[in-house]
Amino acid sequence: MRHRLATLPRRSAVDLRQMRLAGRVVAEMHEAIRGAAQPGVTTAALDLIGREVLAKRSATSNFLGYHGFPAVICASVNDEVVHGIPGPRTLQDGDLLSIDCGAIVNGWHGDAAFSMAIGTATAATQRLIDTADKALAAAIRAMVPGGHLGDIGAAIEEIVSAAGYGSPRDYCGHGIGTAMHEEPDVENRGRRGKGPALEQGVVLAIEPMLIAGGSDDVRELDDDWTVVTGDGSLAAHVEHTVLVGPDGPEILTI
Ligand code: MG
Ligand code: MG
Repeated sequence: MRHRLATLPRRSAVDLRQMRLAGRVVAEMHEAIRGAAQPGVTTAALDLIGREVLAKRSATSNFLGYHGFPAVICASVNDEVVHGIPGPRTLQDGDLLSIDCGAIVNGWHGDAAFSMAIGTATAATQRLIDTADKALAAAIRAMVPGGHLGDIGAAIEEIVSAAGYGSPRDYCGHGIGTAMHEEPDVENRGRRGKGPALEQGVVLAIEPMLIAGGSDDVRELDDDWTVVTGDGSLAAHVEHTVLVGPDGPEILTI
């Protein structure tokens, strides 16, 4: 999908109530998984924790079954950028883990991701994670009435490239509502003032993806899901579902 929309869809107050509920479930999944992710734990065990939160909140997964995806979380480790499949892999001290997951409540979707170090982080790992968080925070600050879609990508691109990192071109954020992936694409690069206007009620999933080696190059593994860096360097992935509120951004997945 490219920017075919002249104007972006705006959500009603009633719809936003549901999206906040979905977002809160995603935040709870994150909190539970973050607390459990440590050396010796498998990524399959983290998926199970995600499933338990969904069940407890009577929410369903927008990841499970998505084009056949077999889990409720993506767990991407070290050089894996996005779409890692949870399984028997055991987390090791110093690993960089990115967790992406979502939830559906009454037909409305939430989607968010975080990156963390397992056990002790090297300075290089921590710097990559901190830069990803900084890029996401800057992009969220661009979600104001009167802004433009290009402001978001520009904010991310400036921080990522200033830090010397790369970012894959074929993966990006998206509109979100009654489906997880809606128009428009929210690219991790762009130009300020370009693209459709950001108006109150617009909701977007913003998701910077960083490649430590500085290249934009990625490839997909034979499992047809896992995307890894082309140069084998570390990757980080963070995401929030964000509303353009009347006075500024509101993070729904928090
Ligand atoms: Mg996601
Ligand atoms: Mg997403």
